[in-house]
Amino acid sequence: MNNGTFSLPPLPYPYDALEPYIDKWTMELHHTKHHQAYVNNLNKAIEGTELAGKTLEELIGMASKVPAAVRNNGGGHWNHTFFWKIMKPNGGGLPSGELADAINSTFGSFENFKKAFTDSALGRFGSGWAWLIMSNGKLVVASTPNQDNPLMDVAEVKGIPILGIDVWEHAYYLKYQNRRNEYVENWWNVVNWDEVSRLFKQNK
Ligand code: MN
Repeated sequence: MNNGTFSLPPLPYPYDALEPYIDKWTMELHHTKHHQAYVNNLNKAIEGTELAGKTLEELIGMASKVPAAVRNNGGGHWNHTFFWKIMKPNGGGLPSGELADAINSTFGSFENFKKAFTDSALGRFGSGWAWLIMSNGKLVVASTPNQDNPLMDVAEVKGIPILGIDVWEHAYYLKYQNRRNEYVENWWNVVNWDEVSRLFKQNK
């Protein structure tokens, strides 16, 4: 973020680290082409404008007031930076501690939560994201179109993401083709619950 420009953060693990659930080629293209393009296009969109110098969070928070290129590419940059962190090799399993308690008391059980989140991911028509957010101190499942997210002032349901899944076809098509349901089912095996718990505690 030096000189008012954004840059692609390194992936926190190798491209093949999420195999067999997310394949190496998808991860490599997703990070080096798709995410990089959001970064490049965001920089282009703010260069020489009054938006240059604002933080990514500031740009996203004022999504209704910025050009579409800033909303879409700023969202793309934020969402993917977040997405890489809430996944990890040898992830999955069940959340524990306070987060597990909150999920159980909010949704009744982990299985109920998983179903609500999966339904949200599968129900998003076209491209977008499904989220677990902290909204006024409560856990809420939500989804957003395109590269929007719940931090945006334009979001229908606002809050702070603690878990999210990219359901754009570029996130799964090479391995799963049109079978978004198989991608989502397999994706649970790479969830980084330590990071989700950390975000929960930070934002509760
Ligand atoms: Mn993506």
